[in-house]
Amino acid sequence: MPELSLEALEKRRDALETRIMLACKACQRPRESVTLIWVSKFHPITSVEKAIQLGAKEFGENRVQEAIEKFSTPRSGIHCHIIGPIQANKLRKAILVADFIHSIASLDAIHKLESICAETGKILDILIQVNTSEEDTKSGITMAETESFLLSLPEAPHLRYRGLMTIGKNTGIAEDSRAGFRFLREMRDKMHAVGGLFENFSELSMGMTEDLEVAIEEGATLIRVGTALFGERALLI
Ligand SMILES: *Cc1c(COP(=O)(O)O)cnc(C)c1O
Repeated sequence: MPELSLEALEKRRDALETRIMLACKACQRPRESVTLIWVSKFHPITSVEKAIQLGAKEFGENRVQEAIEKFSTPRSGIHCHIIGPIQANKLRKAILVADFIHSIASLDAIHKLESICAETGKILDILIQVNTSEEDTKSGITMAETESFLLSLPEAPHLRYRGLMTIGKNTGIAEDSRAGFRFLREMRDKMHAVGGLFENFSELSMGMTEDLEVAIEEGATLIRVGTALFGERALLI
């Protein structure tokens, strides 16, 4: 699919905004309680620039190298979220470009991130990824292990534990994601109530093009949307 013109991107953004507003209205949530992350993976920097012209501030990338290519030059008010699994040897690079990482699923990664951030004095927001679809191809902590994993998190002065992230089931039926989203919300509530390390544990990153309405109904605070905004991705880049 050729790159979208600014006008075409604006139309798609408006159509998506209507979906988000209707979903919020249906469950009596204010629109501002849901932050839209524009997932620009596999799309060129020129598409990112058009999105910025339309007011986009939060972007999602799932590969560190691609994030660096597009976001290593700081732009005021623009944030890059890493939403894909990161190899241990890429964590240092990831921190150079991202203030928010959604895809943390091991204590090892947490210890490494804390020590890298301590060197540079950076404070990093992180989410713990849960594999609610229980599909082997997806990364994340299993649902069965989630609570004990969260309770084992170390105190890390340079990390802020901000909440949980998951990817819905890709069956093509949005309802199929609901049980996983609900699990995530209940776990977030439980941990938030614990306080201490979890005092900032308020975010739920869930919902993509296919299932964002269900995610919003279940309490998503961050939705990650690519296709509905930028169109289909090329399979290979
Ligand atoms: C690609 C991707 C998205 C966006 O998916 P769309 O279906 O294109 O909206 C969201 N989250 C993650 C983790 C992704 O890798």
